[in-house]
Amino acid sequence: MPENVVIVGSGPAAWTAAIYAARAQIKPLVFQGNPYDDKNRQNGTLPLGQLALTTEVENFPSWPAGDTREYLRTALKPDDVDFPMWVADNKPQPTHGINGPELMALMRQQAVNFGTRIESKDVVKVDLKKKPFAITTHDGETVEAHTLIVATGARANYLGLPSEDRFKNRGVSACAVCDGFLPRFRNKPIAVIGAGDSACEEAMYLTKFGSKVHMLVRRDVFRASKIMAERTVAHPKIDIRWNTVVEEVLGEDKAGVTGLKIKNNKTGAKEQLDVSGMFCAIGHTPNVSFLDGQVELTESGYLKWTTVARTYTSVEGVFAAGDVADDYYRQAISAAGTGCMAALDAERYLGHHGLI
Ligand code: NAP
Repeated sequence: MPENVVIVGSGPAAWTAAIYAARAQIKPLVFQGNPYDDKNRQNGTLPLGQLALTTEVENFPSWPAGDTREYLRTALKPDDVDFPMWVADNKPQPTHGINGPELMALMRQQAVNFGTRIESKDVVKVDLKKKPFAITTHDGETVEAHTLIVATGARANYLGLPSEDRFKNRGVSACAVCDGFLPRFRNKPIAVIGAGDSACEEAMYLTKFGSKVHMLVRRDVFRASKIMAERTVAHPKIDIRWNTVVEEVLGEDKAGVTGLKIKNNKTGAKEQLDVSGMFCAIGHTPNVSFLDGQVELTESGYLKWTTVARTYTSVEGVFAAGDVADDYYRQAISAAGTGCMAALDAERYLGHHGLI
């Protein structure tokens, strides 16, 4: 029997779609991704998505600062791999709202509570020309589905320098939360590339570990929100270098990154900056390769919503939700909103075609 709805992804869009679909009793199946795939680790595409790589989430409504420990202890399953360590170990945790991994674990738990089935597999291929659709996972298994919700999000970009590739995992990273604690960065200078909210967040997080955080900004303005930019500028451990680009990542095979060749693109002045690592926070690329061109994309490569205020794509029965289709808002709450819409769109499609 084909599935009613398959959801691919594991961020706020995917879990919200799953909560709605499960409560509508259309029995969603979620492919949340392969947690053991090293490429997923490098690309930041592990289960629970980009939010699992962030720290505090202060703008997701309903999470004012408070003592969340008891709530998390009761809402989440202690045997879940993503159960917050500080809850499990009774470690001190300051009063806070919610952080990214906690928020995502809660969303997934809510989807599970209503009967969502989850497979920890990557979807690598789809055939959307036939109905029901065929959806193939990395282990070669294929499931059929009447509808598909694509909520695969987007992954971090790198600069694209050959020297950068050489030092990935040895000082070059796109995730401070994943790698910042490594001994190589302790009490040593670190560089962050970018000027958006992510770059500010990464730079501030890295101040916990590095002796200094150099933020390299290619223009002379921030793209980040005012509040994040102000906090970053005011931080005593953050040194902002305006109009600055990286020309080469320097290092040695054993030691990894030891410095950067940087250039002021206004004056042309070049300099060598001693750092133990470089964290890229320069935007994202949507995860659409598994669709292999079968669904129309926007000019910037995101999935195209073909109808205003709907999650329809160019293929009937395929719906898009979250950052994979949104290069404009890109917020957890907006992704969750489109996840809800996609589930309702899928349910109505199934009803309209007499499939439920
Ligand atoms: P973003 O806003 O697109 O910013 C990307 C930054 O990288 C820009 O400053 C850009 O420079 C720079 N950049 C791009 N390519 C570069 C290159 N080759 N070399 C050097 N710099 C380069 O991306 P983001 O910071 O990941 O944020 C994405 C979305 O998520 C935004 O809507 C943001 O508000 C949201 N977000 C929110 C929070 C929060 O509220 N706590 C945290 C993280 C992200 P230019 O400015 O010169 O283009």
